[in-house]
Order: sequence, then C-alpha cells, then structure tokens
Amino acid sequence: MHTPAASSLPSPLAPEWLQFPAGDVNQLDDGVWSRTAKRTDEGELEIGGVRASQLLQDFGSPLYVIDETDVRERAAAAAQDFTTAFTDIGAEVELHYASKAFLSIDVARWMAEAGLGLDVSSGGELEVALAAGIAPKEIGLHGNNKSIVEIERAVEVGVGSIIIDSLQEVERIADAAARAGKIQPVMVRLNAGIHASTHSYLATSHEDQKFGLTFDVAREAIARIRELDSLELLGLHSHIGSSIYEPSGFGAAAHKLMSFRAELLGGGPVPEVNLGGGFGIAYLPSDDAPVLADLARGIAAEVARAVQETGSDLPKFTFEPGRSIVGPGGTTLYTVGTTKPVDVPGEAGNAKRLYVAVDGGMSDNIRPALYEADYCVRLANRESEASPQLARVVGKHCESGDIVVNNDYLPADITPGDLLAVPATGAYCWSLSNHYNYLDRPAVIAVRDGAARTLIRRITINDQLAHDAAWSPEEN
Ligand code: PLP
Repeated sequence: MHTPAASSLPSPLAPEWLQFPAGDVNQLDDGVWSRTAKRTDEGELEIGGVRASQLLQDFGSPLYVIDETDVRERAAAAAQDFTTAFTDIGAEVELHYASKAFLSIDVARWMAEAGLGLDVSSGGELEVALAAGIAPKEIGLHGNNKSIVEIERAVEVGVGSIIIDSLQEVERIADAAARAGKIQPVMVRLNAGIHASTHSYLATSHEDQKFGLTFDVAREAIARIRELDSLELLGLHSHIGSSIYEPSGFGAAAHKLMSFRAELLGGGPVPEVNLGGGFGIAYLPSDDAPVLADLARGIAAEVARAVQETGSDLPKFTFEPGRSIVGPGGTTLYTVGTTKPVDVPGEAGNAKRLYVAVDGGMSDNIRPALYEADYCVRLANRESEASPQLARVVGKHCESGDIVVNNDYLPADITPGDLLAVPATGAYCWSLSNHYNYLDRPAVIAVRDGAARTLIRRITINDQLAHDAAWSPEEN
C-alpha cells in the first residue's frame, strides 16, 4: 500500500469532486472498474484474467477491452431487475438493448442470449443485428430521419417496430409496407417536455430539440396511422435523456404518456408504452450511481402511480438501456508517449499540472470534448509508491481540447512507456470513434476466463487508404 509523502497535498487546481488519493493512488475503486478488473500480485492491471501488457502486446495500443462476464451479467441482471419490479406492479415488461452504445455481432448475440431485444437507430445498426441472427421481430428501428431505403429494408425483414419521429414518416412507412404487402407495427415517439437533469446534449425530451412529436402532432399522426391499412399502432415512446440517476423523470414521462394513452384508447388499442433508456453509471469514484435494481423498482413505483392517477389499464412497458449494460464493462488501454509538467498560474502562486500524452485521444473517446465528460485513470502496467500528482491525460490530436481524462491523480513517477487504463469506456466510445488525423481505430477485444479474442479488428491506415480513390497499393 502506498502512503503518500508528507508533502503530498491536494492540488489547488483539482476540481472539488476529485478526491485526493490519500490511501492508494493505485486503487481500482469498486463501482467504476469492470467486475473482473484487479491487480495481479505484481501490481499489474488484469481484466478477465488477462494482463494489460499482454493485451497490448497481442492486439496493439490503444485498445478497447470488453469484460465479457461483466457485460453478460449486467444484461441478464437488467432483464431480471425490471421483470421483478414490473411483475410487482402487475405489468409486463421487456428490455431492448440500445445498440448505439456499442454494437458488434457477438455483443448482439450476448444480448439475445440474456433475453433482450435490440434497438437500432440506422440501417447500418440494423444490418449488424441481422448479421448476428437477431430475430427481426425483436428489433425496433429508431431515427429522426430514416431514409426510404432504411424503411424499406426494415419493413422487408419484418422488424417488430418502427418508431415514428415525424409526420412525413407516417406516409413513408405506410407506402413501404403497402408496396411489400405487409402490415408494419409502429410506435410514435413523443417529446414529453421533460427536462432531464443531465448535459443538454444528453437530454432528449426538452422542447427545443429534434427528437419526438409534440402531443398535438402525435394526435394527428396517430389519427392518420389508424386510417392506414398497412400500419398498426403498437404504442407510444419517450426517451428523456441519458446518464440519469433517479426515477422521477421517468415518472413524469410515464404520467404524460399514460394520460395521452387514456385519451387515445377511445379510438383503438395502444398496447405498449416504451419509456426509453438513459440509466446512469459511475464514471468516477465520486459518482453515486444507482444500483439498477433500485432504479428499476423506483421507476416501477412511479409508473404504478401514473397508471393509478390516469385510471387506465396496464399496457406492456418497454425500456431501452444501452450505457448501463455495456458501459461499465469497457476499459481503454493506452501507452504513455510523453509527459510534460506545466506551471499553471493561480491566486496562490503557480501550481503544477502534469500533462500525460497517450497514443489515442479524441478519436477513440470524443465524450470529454463533446459533453465535457469526466473519466478517471490508473497506471496499468505496475503499481507505484510515488506521490500522487494532479494529471491531465491528453491525446495526440491537433486540438487543445483533445483530452481523455481532464483531472485525476497519477503517480508522479509516470514515464513514457507506462500503460494507462481508463475505465467505464464500454458505451459511446468505439461507437463514436473517428479517424481524425488518420489514426488507427483501435481494436475491440473481449476478455473472459484468461482468454482474449477480437470482437472488432483494428482499422489501420491501409484500411483507410483503401478508401482513397487516388491510392494505388502497387505504387506503395
Ligand atoms: N433509446 C433512445 C431513443 C436513445 O436515444 C438512447 C440514447 O441516446 C437510448 C435509448 C439509450 O440510452 P442509454 O445508453 O443512456 O441507456
């Protein structure tokens, strides 16, 4: 155990929420790291029984590592938690994994094996789901601007639902279904006007944004859906946002949707209400993330109240969690390239911040630049006895906003060649990754019981050059 030197004090540059690691700068805090992550007797980080250095040696750096046990357990537990909570209020419930969080063929199969359906938001995600052999009726297609080709494909394969997000889509889906000689089940996405307590880019149900229909427009859409022989109204949908820690926003949405549903029931059945996803996870040791079973119980209680107050019968409820299933099981491994102590002037004189540059950055995790998302970091290849030093982990891109971890303490003896691990990167990191500066897109590796295997191969510069119409491999 490392005991910091007497001169080790919290940095005046550190944000209030950042705890000074008075005990151990090497500690892997429970709740943030994936379930099988631990340090070996030699002090190295190991996930799924495979050492970090071995993973980088075999698959290259940087690397996304998915703890398969963690992800599979969370998927199964989520299904169980919601079933228990909603059975208690007498309602049927189903979970659809929000595949935008992270999707590969194997991960889609893990979800099906855990009893979850799949929610896709593009024709591309739909093709991955189909390649995984997911039954089309278990798939819901989202999107605020689905192309005709995407709609036709979804209708042709027979997806279980298409979630309508504009008036124009009503006719487009009806025409595609009529051409295919099918009746397509649809849901209508509502903008319930809920102000979820999260980053504005993560809140999706306040009035001034692109998703969903107002209740007035939805009324018009549903009247038209009911006139059209090729459409069947499956239900109502709302997604209030992401990274939400408590149930009240879901309760507010349930109340609005249940009242609206009660009004619609006079014109025909509305069998399903989908309340979206958005359950928050811990990114930092100081994050007080809910246990999903507790959140499920809280949401079920809110829903029961909404049902009682609107005096209607119980529809089937659906939820679409993404981040809470796959986020905590992901860790990104990086190699340190350079370190740079910087004197930052402040009221009490200069304070030091150590800039630690790694071999990835905003191309493999854009969330800090996009939403000012905070992550934490630990030294992965060894433990250190050195004093904690406030550090900022940055990438290698040509942007000063290219930050991976804005604030955390790392041992002051960190040096080029050391390996760093950033936990809770399973959701919205690979799926939002990009090729800025023509960096490789790192591979995604699943680890389990001491074995590692590739889920998605590294996309290299040769893969990228192959898309450059002027490139000829013979000349290079
Ligand atoms: N459903 C919809 C419609 C979404 O837009 C999203 C995320 O943006 C989700 C579900 C999943 O949210 P999360 O990954 O936070 O659970």
